[in-house]
Amino acid sequence: TAKLANSPPAAVPRFRVSQGGDNLEYFIKKKLSVWCRLHNGVWESGQIQSTSGEKASVLLSDGSVVTVPTQELLPANPDILEGVDDLIQLSYLNEPSVLHNLHYRFSQDILYSKAGPVLVAVNPFKDIQLYGDDFITAYRQNLLDSPHVYAVADAAYNEMMTDGINQSIIISGESGAGKTETAKIAMQYLAAVVGGSGGIESQVLETSCILEAFGNAKTARNDNSSRFSRVVQLAKGERSYHIFYQLCAGAPSGLRGRLRLKRACDYTYLNQSDCLVIHDVDDAHKFHMLMGALDTVRICRHDQEQVFEMLAAVLWLGNISFRVIDHENHIDVVADEAVSNAACLIGCGIQDLILALSTHSIQAGKEKVAKRLTLRQAIDTRDSLAKFIYGSLFDWLVEKINLSLATGKQHTGRSISILDIYGFESFKRNSFEQFCINYANERLQQHFNRHLFKLAQEEYELDGIDWTKIDFEDNQDCLDLIEKKPLGLISLLDEESKFPKATHLTFAMKLKQHLKANRCFKGERGGAFSIRHYAGEVLYETGEFLEKNRDALHSEIVQLLSSCTACQLPQWFASVLEQSEKLASSSFQLRRPAYQKQSVSTKFKGQLFKLMQQLEGTTPHFIRCIKPNNKQIPGAFEKDLVLEQLRACGVLEVVRISRSGYPTRMTHQEFTRRYGFLLPENNACQDPLSMSVAILQQFGILPEMYQVGYKKLYFRAGQIGSLEDVRKQVL
Ligand code: ADP
Ligand code: MG
Repeated sequence: TAKLANSPPAAVPRFRVSQGGDNLEYFIKKKLSVWCRLHNGVWESGQIQSTSGEKASVLLSDGSVVTVPTQELLPANPDILEGVDDLIQLSYLNEPSVLHNLHYRFSQDILYSKAGPVLVAVNPFKDIQLYGDDFITAYRQNLLDSPHVYAVADAAYNEMMTDGINQSIIISGESGAGKTETAKIAMQYLAAVVGGSGGIESQVLETSCILEAFGNAKTARNDNSSRFSRVVQLAKGERSYHIFYQLCAGAPSGLRGRLRLKRACDYTYLNQSDCLVIHDVDDAHKFHMLMGALDTVRICRHDQEQVFEMLAAVLWLGNISFRVIDHENHIDVVADEAVSNAACLIGCGIQDLILALSTHSIQAGKEKVAKRLTLRQAIDTRDSLAKFIYGSLFDWLVEKINLSLATGKQHTGRSISILDIYGFESFKRNSFEQFCINYANERLQQHFNRHLFKLAQEEYELDGIDWTKIDFEDNQDCLDLIEKKPLGLISLLDEESKFPKATHLTFAMKLKQHLKANRCFKGERGGAFSIRHYAGEVLYETGEFLEKNRDALHSEIVQLLSSCTACQLPQWFASVLEQSEKLASSSFQLRRPAYQKQSVSTKFKGQLFKLMQQLEGTTPHFIRCIKPNNKQIPGAFEKDLVLEQLRACGVLEVVRISRSGYPTRMTHQEFTRRYGFLLPENNACQDPLSMSVAILQQFGILPEMYQVGYKKLYFRAGQIGSLEDVRKQVL
């Protein structure tokens, strides 16, 4: 099974035996509390009573006394720091202290905390009165400043308005951690702030209802999980996209007739997982809400009807069955209502659909010869057609919504993008999907690292600050492993996917042969391999990699769609595909044929690059969502689970770096403007830099607590607080 790395980050302070404020004797003398790790791995707080050699006796809060090796002790924070807003304020930064702080806040329904520049959000799994107009106004007017999604959205909005730079809010976390809800909360804020004119507010908010219906599904971990590619195959207890069940349950009778619609339980794509309903969710009602939302964003009735036709077509495609006609497993399509309904809804002839699903023509010399498909090939072809229609429908809908929102509005050309992206996944069995997800997260992590660490460091250096470089886990090795050409994982996968005789074992061999030198790769037994991701090591089974990476959408199918004259959407889908593949092939070498079909992983990589390019041009704001338990219940805070996620998304690293740096910055002008009046008058004519230094000396701020740059002053966490106190007393 996959495991997450469980070594603590490198610079967690431990007790030092020599001098310094955090040695054991000092803690005994001052009766300070400590964290003490017990046999079961749980951290308890207590006080050291005595030490002998490498052991210490500790009085725990429940009154019992334990004896533990001193390396099982960590300094705890003083009571006054209990539940601080920002983890960088902690005097002692270690895992039990961070966990305790988050837990303490969580138990008082305070979901949000800061970790330096990052907002940490712990999913409460219950409604908490933290949202709505009053809160929005309070954050807008700076009456509230406790950490909140609203504060992040507000900062993004202000920065966009003052700097004129596009912004992004990047939300990450595991499945069920609360990313989508957080994205909606951010949208709600932005819609309210820019709203008022022309009902854009309600339109923007209604889009999330539409995107959710088409993009989300019930999984074992989340009743409303944002998903991709799950049209044709479901695991037990999971559902396909909500929209299918909503349509089956809620379509009015006229529409039902036109779509030849049956109940959800009558469709193979929906009934295979024994899960048709979600507790407490009324799909029929949701369908009516959806139709209202489509009206609000001005998708016309004609277009709505087309959308529903495509959905019904997908469902009927799934019911098409095949009959094996010879001992080589070749098939015929069973000519029943499924084929005729699907053909009618797609807008093609029944015979044309049957032909496209049962044969594949190959070039033999000058002639084209039609070859009959085997059962496996036919099923793959049918399913890939269904996936293609659904995927294209989603893209079309997004484009329509964007067009509709954009018309008639004045444009500033500035934007705030909210990215809600599936988090890192590590299951007992991991396949191609997890590989793609984790690869995307690897890229995002690099973006995160670059911004927080490298940029901070560069700023210090530019301003002439002596700032001992802090190492951080760079994940370039892992990205190289995946992306390098010609010997990276994706290239090797593409190459192997093209060999007719390749199997998952030959693929695994190939990986081992070419990738073993990379420290992030490990070949495993039985055709498996592991990758050391930034968030931990994941074991992948190569079992279905080749099939999933090949795109079984034959050119016959694309031709079939482009020849549909009865409906507009299928033609549009086919033309978009042809265009994108032409575009992709033009960037390949000239020797390749003009029409280059892309594998799934290469297409994914291309999309990811485009996304990253878009993000590069923005000022990012990061939100890390944390899931406190796997049962989706309120109140339960499982420390191990939370800790794994904190490690996986680098929260502790961020805190460490923010703290060891100088998180508070002010230009000399700003600083002297605010505190200059504290100086005797004859100093006031000096230049800002000299005045800054004079103020610092006057108030006896310790030299190790600040650095003076050419342009700015840099303070350790908490320093400005004491100057502010003096300022308040004087004013
Ligand atoms: P993700 O997108 O990360 O997979 P979701 O955003 O869908 O997770 O959240 C999963 C569930 O957790 C939601 O359906 C909701 O019940 C609950 N939840 C998430 N965030 C909040 C919040 N801020 N307040 C209350 N409940 C929440
Ligand atoms: Mg989601």
